[in-house]
This record gives sequence, C-alpha cells and structure tokens, in this order.
Amino acid sequence: MSTEQGNSPLVLIVDDHPDNVEVLQARLDALGYRTACASDGETALQMVAESPPDLILLDVMMPRMDGNEVARRIKADKSLPFIPIIMQTALDSTQSKVFGLDSGADDYVTKPINYAELQARMAAALRVKALQDRVAQMAITDALTGLYNRRHLDERLDEMFEHSVRLHEPLSVVMFDLDHFKKVNDTYGHQVGDVVLTQFAQLLKHVARDIDRIGRYGGEEFMVLLPGTVLDAGVTFAKRARQEVETHQFEYEGGVLECSISAGVAAYPHPRIHTRQQLVKAADDALYVAKTTGRNRVVRFADPEFNANVKEVDDQHAHGAVDGGAARPG
Ligand SMILES: [Mg+2]
Repeated sequence: MSTEQGNSPLVLIVDDHPDNVEVLQARLDALGYRTACASDGETALQMVAESPPDLILLDVMMPRMDGNEVARRIKADKSLPFIPIIMQTALDSTQSKVFGLDSGADDYVTKPINYAELQARMAAALRVKALQDRVAQMAITDALTGLYNRRHLDERLDEMFEHSVRLHEPLSVVMFDLDHFKKVNDTYGHQVGDVVLTQFAQLLKHVARDIDRIGRYGGEEFMVLLPGTVLDAGVTFAKRARQEVETHQFEYEGGVLECSISAGVAAYPHPRIHTRQQLVKAADDALYVAKTTGRNRVVRFADPEFNANVKEVDDQHAHGAVDGGAARPG
C-alpha cells in the first residue's frame, strides 16, 4: 500500500447486495478513497472493531441485522473513535430517515444513489470527523509537551493495572521530576523552562518503548507506565533516562544548560501494593526519597535505602499537599 493510499480516508461499504457494493466501490476507488466491504451487519461490526474506518456507508435493508441496528451498536461502543455513518435507504420516507438518524446515523442518501450528492455528504462527514478527532486528541494531550495529560494517563493506568492483576503480569510505574526546576524558571524565565520540559519529554519518548505510556503528571513531574515490566527492568529504564538527561545539552535561544532528574520506581506485583493508587504512591514516595537523598538519582520502592528514609517521607507528606508532590523539594 502506497503512502498516498495510506493517507486517504478508509470507507467501509456495508450492503447485502453484491451489485451495489461493486458499483459503490468502483466509484469510491475512482475518487481516491480506500474501501473495505461487508455484506452483512455482523461482518461489518467485526471489521469496525478490528480496524475502525473513517466513514461507513450503511445499507438499511439487510437480512438478520439491519443497518439501524448496526449503527446503534457502533455508536454505543465507547471504545471506538467517532465514525460518521451515512445510511443508504431505498425507503424515501421521512419515517425511515428519522428512524435511521435516531439509531445513530449521521446522514443519509436515498437509493438510487446520486453520486454527486453522496460525494458532497461524504466530504462533509469527513470534515466533522477530522474536527472530532482533533478534539478527542486535545482532550488527552498535554499541550506543551505533546505527551498524554494526567487524566488520560490515570485512565491508561486503570486499564493496565486491571490487566496486570487479571493476567498476573508485572507493571512498573516510574515517577520523574526535574531537579531544581523552579531555579531554571527563576534564572532563565518560563520560556526556557518550557524548552527544558519539551526536550525532556522528547528524551523520555526516545528511551521508552512503543507500548509504554508517558505523561506529564504535574508541572515538572512526569509518569511513565511500563507494562509487562518487573521492578528491576523499571529501574534500568529510569537509570537510562536519568543518564540521558545528565548528558543532554538543553539548547535554548541564547545558550545551553544542563539539568538532572530524580526518579522513583515501583512495580506490581508487590506484597504492599494492591491498588493502582498504592502503586502510584509507592513510586511517588520513592521519588521523594530520591529528592531528599541528593537528587539526580533513581530510588526503588521498598529496597533498604527506601525503607531507611521512608519514615521521613510519611512525616513530610502528612504536612504536604493532599494531591501529592507539592511538599516535595524541587
Ligand atoms: Mg439491502
């Protein structure tokens, strides 16, 4: 498949009549769309789940499962992105159109299809999708760094933790914090601070695997979720990131500066970790120990060094912010 084809919208044609499919497919191919076809509702739902198309042209009258039911199920599935559905209905009656739109269809065309009209309606539907996709992307992204935001990361962690518990698979969480970041802002200004945050985000992306999830958790605090990763491997990852930052020249307009990070690592399973909240707190507490024992270092949850310093952590946290981190040194 060429890159050009890869960028053109994928349209799923659903119709029980092979002739209709053939004609539509030929038309859409000629217009530069990528196409996939299903001849019944069940197959359509399966294809949508496996590889969500950008648009669905959905026949209403089909045996077993009609188009209205297919639309209803697709729109009810919250795990799917927004997929515009254009119903093709032979029944040119207001009632059937209303029923189709109520089922979740975004638009309709009547058979026999007027292709100029269909093309215009498809273009309009795809514009709406592009907008919806952008909004959905913005809702999960940290605007400055392009990483996931905290809310989305918490949701991913919920899923990963549940998955780990169910399948007895390890899961590591690493909390990072840029050392003395307030000093960077105070000395060089917030614009340079933003440059440091952005470059640090890039370094984390570089060190992490595709399956890892990286997010900006707070101001200068970042969290990485490492599925299928035991504590030792989580620590190795954190140490690599720490080393990358230590040797990185953070370039900004007018100069370069050096930074360091501290990290706390925790992993499930652990006798003291039963919830995802406990997992995050364990990593956060380890980060706190890294901060209070000299910074620019990685501390693992519940190892002897952690245990020797954790009393102080609990005391400090008792006086600190409810939402974690605010009482931590920079
Ligand atoms: Mg039909």
